[in-house]
Amino acid sequence: IGDSNKGSLITSGTKKRPDGRAFDELRPLKIEAGVLERADGSSYVEIGDNKVLAAVYGPRELHVRRLLKPNMAILRCRYNMAPFSVEDRKRPGPDRRSVEISKITAEALNPAVFLEKFPRSTIDISIEVLQAEGGTRCAGITAASVALADAGIPMRDMVAACAAGKADGQVVMDLSEWEDKEGEADLPIAMMPRTGDITLLQMDGHLTSDEFEKALDLAIKGCKIISEEQKNAIKNRYGD
Ligand code: UDP
Repeated sequence: IGDSNKGSLITSGTKKRPDGRAFDELRPLKIEAGVLERADGSSYVEIGDNKVLAAVYGPRELHVRRLLKPNMAILRCRYNMAPFSVEDRKRPGPDRRSVEISKITAEALNPAVFLEKFPRSTIDISIEVLQAEGGTRCAGITAASVALADAGIPMRDMVAACAAGKADGQVVMDLSEWEDKEGEADLPIAMMPRTGDITLLQMDGHLTSDEFEKALDLAIKGCKIISEEQKNAIKNRYGD
């Protein structure tokens, strides 16, 4: 995947990465829509060694009065890592990290969904990380968008997510787990490629403003490639 970057800001990047990728190359990507019978919408995403399932239930009527919004639906997300998804067994149940990722996932998806079409309702999204290799929040957001589309929920665009960052002194697209842990910075973003709206931007580590520009440019480029695969997944399920 990945391609050269004619006409972009990005100029650096001659060093090969530990997994042999070029600086502007995604890990191998596979997206499938409609993988679960009993959810209203679902999808499965593999990017590198990440394996992530997303399921959508709803929209359905919300009976919890304090959460209910009279003029729109609410979007609830639960990001969960399976105990066997990481090298050191992950203790089951929510922790600080998964609560944070659940929250930012809902925030990244919210602007894309026409929530006002479903007053007094909830749309529930479960994201299950079966195997993790760096970048699971992005894989989860990417999977959740496809699951929402598979559920037939009207959206402005499918949100695509991709990180860029700095590892071994080089600004690179789509950090692996090793690059995430050993690297200097991580910049995960989510966006609606059709409108160009960025719905999530987080940053961990240090980048100069020039490096930040390069990383943002690479992450946007990654989102655009992922977006095409999301659309292909929906086309493969429902035809053109
Ligand atoms: N990770 C882990 N154990 C954990 C949490 C994370 O081994 O309890 C690994 C996992 O491969 C994950 C990576 O560390 O993808 C980076 O985690 P981070 O918190 O940066 O989130 P992510 O990059 O997955 O969105």
